[in-house]
Parts: sequence; C-alpha cells; structure tokens
Amino acid sequence: MARKRWQYPYLPYGKVDLLGKVVGAIERIVKSAMFGCMMCGNCLLQKTEFICPMRCPKGLRNGPCGGSSKGRCYVDETRLCVWHLIYEKSFTNQEEEKLLEVLPPIDGEKRGRSAWLDLFCKIEETGFRKFLSDPGKIFQSLHQPDWWRGDAEYHSSVCVESVSNLEKELRSGFVVTCEINPPISCSEEKLKGLIDSVRPYVSAINLVSNPSANTRISSWATSLIAMEQGVEPILQIASRDINRINLQSLATGANMHGIKNILCLTGDSSSEGLKPRISRTEVDIDAIQILWILRRMRDEGKYLDGREIKFPPKFFLGAAASPFSSNPKFQALREEKKVNAGAQFFQTNLVFDLDGLEIWLNELSKRNLFKKVFILVGIAPLKSLKMAQNLNNVPGVFVPEEIIKRMERASEKNGAQEEGVQIALEFIDRIKLIDGINGIHLMPIFWEEVVSRIVREAGLLR
Ligand code: SF4
Repeated sequence: MARKRWQYPYLPYGKVDLLGKVVGAIERIVKSAMFGCMMCGNCLLQKTEFICPMRCPKGLRNGPCGGSSKGRCYVDETRLCVWHLIYEKSFTNQEEEKLLEVLPPIDGEKRGRSAWLDLFCKIEETGFRKFLSDPGKIFQSLHQPDWWRGDAEYHSSVCVESVSNLEKELRSGFVVTCEINPPISCSEEKLKGLIDSVRPYVSAINLVSNPSANTRISSWATSLIAMEQGVEPILQIASRDINRINLQSLATGANMHGIKNILCLTGDSSSEGLKPRISRTEVDIDAIQILWILRRMRDEGKYLDGREIKFPPKFFLGAAASPFSSNPKFQALREEKKVNAGAQFFQTNLVFDLDGLEIWLNELSKRNLFKKVFILVGIAPLKSLKMAQNLNNVPGVFVPEEIIKRMERASEKNGAQEEGVQIALEFIDRIKLIDGINGIHLMPIFWEEVVSRIVREAGLLR
C-alpha cells in the first residue's frame, strides 16, 4: 500500500547566524508539516503546486523519471511518485503549462538554510514598494537566478548544418541505432568485436553508461574506441553518475575528440545496482538540467558559471523518452520540457505495445513536437519467455499479455528465439509506417549477433 513518507529535512553546511537559525527552525517546522518540505534552501513550491519535489528519492526538480508507473515511485514502491502527484494536481488545476519552465539545480550554498530569509533579503534589496507592485518578479528572480535563467520556451539549435552523421541521416531518412553494453574488463578485443559486428548495419552506436547502475567501462572511453573502429558513437551521460563540474568538462573533452552525439539521461536508480550502493541517491543535476547546460554551452558559448567558451562545442543532443511510464499526457509534457531544454532526438524505452505507442505519439503531436525532435523507437528482440516476463518488471516497460502468450507457445516448441525475432520484425514493419517516427533504436541486451539479421530482414540495410 503506497503511503506518504516522512524524511528528515536537510541541515545546513557551515555556520549559520542566530537570525538564520531562528527563522530556519520556524520555516522547517511550518513547511515540513504543511508541504513535506525538505529545506533544500532553493524553494520551488510555487512552481510545483506546493508539493515539495525534494521528496523524490532521486531529488529530481524538473519532472518524473522514466520509471514512475501507475503513480508509484519505483525506487521505493511504498511511496507515491511525488512528481505524479505534482502533475496530477497541475492538470486538475489546469496549470500544467507552468511545469514546462526549466528549473535550476540546487545552489549548494543555500542547502538547509532558510528560503524565507532569502526572500526577505531580496525584498530589502529591491525595496518593499517594488515588491508590492510586482511580487512575481521577485519570486521569479529567486526561482531563476542569473546563472540559470531557465524558461518554458523552445530553443532551436544555432547549428544550421548537421553536426554529426547521425543528425544528417535523421534529416534525410529512417535510421537505425543500436546500443552496446561496455565490458567490465579492460581488454579491448571483445568490445571491438561487438562494435565490428553491428557497424555495417547502424548509423551510430550508444555506449551504455553503467546500465542498471552497475559499473562498466565508461561510455566516454568506449565511445573513443567506437570512433577508432569507424562508427559514430552516442555518448551517454547519466545524471546519477555525474555532477555539474565534470558534466561540463566531460562534454567539452568529448567534443574535442570529435564526439558530437550525447544522450542525456537520469539513469537507473542506484537502488537497482549491486551492493555496496552509494548512500546519496539524490542527483546534483537531472537530465533536463544536463540538456539545458549543454545547449547553452553550444548555443550561447557559456559555462554554467558564466565563463565564455571561445570555441563552443557542437553537440547533437538526445534524451530518453518513456511512452509507458505514468500517464501519456504527463509523459508528453515531460518530453516537451526535454525538447525545450535542448533535446533534438529521443530514443524511447523498449516498446512492445504499438497501440500504447500511438497513444503517446498522439499526445506528442498535440504538443506539436514532431517537427522539433527526431524519434527513434526502442526495440529489443526477445530471446526467451523468461526475458519477456522479466522485462515486464523493468520500470517504464510494458509487455502485453498477448506477447507473453506468443512467447509461451513458442518456447513449448523450442522456438522462443525465432518468435522473438519475428515479433521485432513485425513491430519494425508497422513502425516504419507511423508518422512522426524517424528510426529504431535496437537494444539487443547481450544478443548483438541478431542485429545484422534484423536490419537485413527489416529492409533497413543502408
Ligand atoms: S518514480 Fe522517479 S520521479 Fe517519481 S518519485 Fe520515484 S524516483 Fe522520483
């Protein structure tokens, strides 16, 4: 049974003066009782229907992750997904468009300190009369500090020409990408073999970043090997694994080496990974904030701290999309926010239900997203009945009963693998005809040798 959970509010780092202590203590008592406030010191309650987003165990400040389903948090199923609650309330109050504004990450200096005191100081600085004449402006300056300046607008890339081969191919036709899980050992041979086996059949390869929150050789290092092997990589950056400092250094460093495609993700919760787990589950910057930071580096030539980048990087930015998490209307809003923040292509989570996919696409179309983002649908050939059943327990994935039954019947005749391939081929045939879809993203899950067959038999050989 899902129920509300109480968590300890944050405490400040460093010394706090007496006024800060007194006001902070009152604020902590009042706001945690009323709103479940976590005292992040960077209050967003006015933007989130007065539900504290910091109750999300991942600490997401711009919407739900792709794992939220049926209103539950997948990190801790005893909780309701706080972002589901925020979306529900916003839609009920017809204020959902407010959620499109890209909100900043926490200013660490303020964490655990009083946001009320921050507001009083701002009023003192601007004058009480000015505050009374336009209080919204003062609140907005607190919600959107100068170093962030997030908004709810769509910003197209300043790069008119395609910056990568993947972008070029997406602009001209139906594309296949594929993902490879990097190895855990430092031998290059296996990785090179895997890359070589899929290279002729795909436009680019995702080098997955620590899948299921388990350590593997980095996406960055393996992307370089993919380039050496003559295939364009898609570097994956997961907010779980990164903070704002090394995000910017990693992205510029990668760009310097010729890596242009970057997929920005939240990443599976560390609670999914092997033990011992990291204790800090909250993220420094979420996937939407990663997109916003990288887009501004490219389009405005600026680091987050305001320093200018004389020769700005050129990125083709992507994001994950999750057609089967929570409500398709909520998802579409979240996808629009990603597009506004900078996403130029989506790679969806695994799709086994084309009717559900069409419902989600319909919601994207209502938000006029097809002309702004390329969509690649995630396809995984099922290798066994067990795989189909297990995938149904993966957050954000839905395998309909009809597919499970087909796999059941096939496995009774020892034909599960063949049936899995046939299901994938049938899906691709139908997907090719759906408006708004620009390609497929194959996730072979340790079955890379099947990629060549699927691409050939689906008539997608380049
Ligand atoms: S499902 Fe995701 S977004 Fe929702 S509360 Fe859990 S971690 Fe946060």
